[in-house]
Amino acid sequence: MAWSEILGQSFALRILRTHLSKERVAPAYLFAGPEGVGKRLAAFELAKALNCEQSDGLPAEASAQAGPCDRCASCSRILRRMHPDVHLVSPQGAIETIRIDEIRHILGRIALRPFMARAQVVILDGADRLTEEAANSLLKSLEEPPASARFILLTSQPSDCLPTIVSRCQTIRFQRLSTEMIQRLLVSQQLCAAEAAPSISRLAQGSLSRARRLAEEWPAYQQMTAHLGAEQAARWLEWAIPNDRQEQAQWLAGSIAWLRDVAVASASDDTLLAHADASSSIRRQAGELGRDRCVDAALQLIEVWGSLEQLVSPRLVGSLLREQWLELTQPAR
Ligand SMILES: [Zn+2]
Repeated sequence: MAWSEILGQSFALRILRTHLSKERVAPAYLFAGPEGVGKRLAAFELAKALNCEQSDGLPAEASAQAGPCDRCASCSRILRRMHPDVHLVSPQGAIETIRIDEIRHILGRIALRPFMARAQVVILDGADRLTEEAANSLLKSLEEPPASARFILLTSQPSDCLPTIVSRCQTIRFQRLSTEMIQRLLVSQQLCAAEAAPSISRLAQGSLSRARRLAEEWPAYQQMTAHLGAEQAARWLEWAIPNDRQEQAQWLAGSIAWLRDVAVASASDDTLLAHADASSSIRRQAGELGRDRCVDAALQLIEVWGSLEQLVSPRLVGSLLREQWLELTQPAR
């Protein structure tokens, strides 16, 4: 792994390497950008660069130029995610939050002297998932971390992060990957059949991790869209809406992407459709439903999606979804 292997993020990486070469690495960064575009990889790469033993004694500029070696004890421990001074904190529990006890634990760790690192690094993946208490307990450390510590916060939802957190970090923006790049990676890494790569890359919306997930679930996804495009979309709902939380999230993501296409089809040509293979079904539904109903239904589904974590019963979510979808597929009044 090297900086050059993080694709499509030359702007963000240039800033980080400049900070390294000028020895001006910030105490706290916020890497903000869509899910699955390399934020976490870049965070671990920065942790390696800060600690690589090959750069001991080298001027900062030369070591930033060379990048971390990937071979020394420090790099190889970070690569294996087994470095005692590089900490990864991720959301936990059913509602996926980062709680105050986890932040206290990590602050306790970095208050001690490092085992082997020059810089202890805390990578906090999900800055938008910090509870308010947890965020408050972190503020002072973000501003004045212990001498050897650096924080790297990651988020795909910067607008959901507390302003007090954002203002204490230096924000680095990560971009969506291009459809062409995702298509190339899907094929070169043999993640899906070559003929599925164009469709999956269009649906991935710039996120390689989304593309990977879609590639894994591709037969099920195709089955679902075949149903969404069927003449009588309402009828298969009785069995098609899953009662399992994770499958519901996938169903919602697929349905929202589908509705977006139906709305787009009523206003433009097929080149903008993510489900280009199903353009004739999409055009037919666009004629039947109209753009406004599609947009309204998509917004309702997005709302259900947002509350998926809070609703205790997946069955309740299932019946809400059925209701929304039936309403949409009723003939226009
Ligand atoms: Zn190294």
